[in-house]
Amino acid sequence: MRPRWCAPAVGLLASALLASGAGCAGPVDPVERPGTTEAHKGHGHAPSAASYRRWGLPSPLAPAPKPPERPTVRTGARPGPPPVVDRIPTRDKVVFLTFDDGAEKDPRFVDMVRELRLPVSMFLTDSIVGPGYAHFGRLRAVGATVQNHTLDHPRLPGLPYAGQRAEICGQQEKLKQHFGIRPRLFRPPYGAYNDDTLRAAADCGVAAVVLWRASMNINDLSYFEGNHLRPGDIVLAHFRRPSELNGASLTEMTTRLLRRIQEQGFTVARLEDYL
Ligand SMILES: [Zn+2]
Repeated sequence: MRPRWCAPAVGLLASALLASGAGCAGPVDPVERPGTTEAHKGHGHAPSAASYRRWGLPSPLAPAPKPPERPTVRTGARPGPPPVVDRIPTRDKVVFLTFDDGAEKDPRFVDMVRELRLPVSMFLTDSIVGPGYAHFGRLRAVGATVQNHTLDHPRLPGLPYAGQRAEICGQQEKLKQHFGIRPRLFRPPYGAYNDDTLRAAADCGVAAVVLWRASMNINDLSYFEGNHLRPGDIVLAHFRRPSELNGASLTEMTTRLLRRIQEQGFTVARLEDYL
């Protein structure tokens, strides 16, 4: 199934689309948008070069460019299935960091996200987070955002519609209980979905289904196509334990990931600013 893009909010085409009501002017859902927490409001200056060095980066990441005025992918603007997104249409040399599941709860990662002001979208699975939601609450308090990755991490196309809906809506409820928000974004486990998944996601209030174009392994990125990042790529990583990282910590893995991004001349932006 092909992703369904909104026209980028640039140029005459977009203006015409917006004027005709066919553009990206979907209703703004107040939940889990940037600017809704203290951490997102920012406290002025960017992280210092010393902060980057402390976390193993040779130089600071470039500041993220100003995000678009309106989300660049049409979400929730009209009835029907949500868009499936693996890359954001942009010319900016930005990529987006997503961390999945929620197994590892390394407190140092909270320090890293806070000190580097890393925009991180967390796709959480209830049965994997287990009793550890408070850790993700701390990450959220320093600017990470919470999104939905099902209750039990099944391969959704193997379930009937009702089962898929229970997995997605059930996790919306859990996240509402823990964080007071109902996520707008959903990622199906293994990136596997069918028409029932999209219908269930829509019924559970999901505005966009988020896949990825590049994924972080222990040391390096792998790409869906080619051998380098492209503007707007969504990058998949996991909250992995040292036992799954050849003994490295989650923060060490993240440093390697940031170096790969930096080496290719990219920086990191916040997914929710574009979706
Ligand atoms: Zn997963």
